Amino acid sequence: MAKRKTLEKAKNSKQKPVSKVKSKTTKSSKKSSSLKNKSALKNSSLEKSENKVPLLKLNEQIWPIERDIFFRPARLKYVRKILKPSGCVFCDSAKNQPSVDTLCVYKTEYSQIILNKFPYNTGHVLVLPLNHIGQIFDLTDAAFMDLHQTLRLAMDAIQAIYNPQGFNTGMNHGATAGAGIPDHLHYHIVPRWNGDLNFFPLIAETKLVIETVEESYKQFETYFKNLAASRSQS
Ligand SMILES: [Zn+2]
Repeated sequence: MAKRKTLEKAKNSKQKPVSKVKSKTTKSSKKSSSLKNKSALKNSSLEKSENKVPLLKLNEQIWPIERDIFFRPARLKYVRKILKPSGCVFCDSAKNQPSVDTLCVYKTEYSQIILNKFPYNTGHVLVLPLNHIGQIFDLTDAAFMDLHQTLRLAMDAIQAIYNPQGFNTGMNHGATAGAGIPDHLHYHIVPRWNGDLNFFPLIAETKLVIETVEESYKQFETYFKNLAASRSQS
């Protein structure tokens, strides 16, 4: 009996410190969890104030690859500086004949094709109206039609000169959407080849472009000269 009591005492004495530690842990975890709750509350109120957009549940047959995208539209103003250039390089090229000085390589009645000064890839061009218009809604029907015919013409030229396997063609409409010159709308056309986006731009933030802009300009200039000649013959 005496032995059992001693054992029970020993058990109790061993358990006590454990329970103390436990209670301490509980207190501290309560404290930290209350802090977490406070910051969670703060975060949730932040998210509310930043108009977090809920993800759409897409039809998996139409959109088989669903991705988790964290939409934070209110953050864009911190990402993009709102640019206020004094002049407009696109208007400068619109006023003059196509020239390597403005990088404008082709003009129609309403539109122009300009080489991108800082290409993402060889053959990267911009297609845009001659008039200083920032909103696609403000284009006349004639200017809109001409812009898109010129867009296709530019893609024809790139296809003939560089024979790419694909294109990224698109427009950043407005400063918030990422337009560098938001007041003068412009399409980007970036030719693409299999494997052209390798790891190098990711690790070095550097893109290899195999041709200078001046060399590209000569290529487009020759293409449009030949096109004009073939049109005048027919
Ligand atoms: Zn302009």
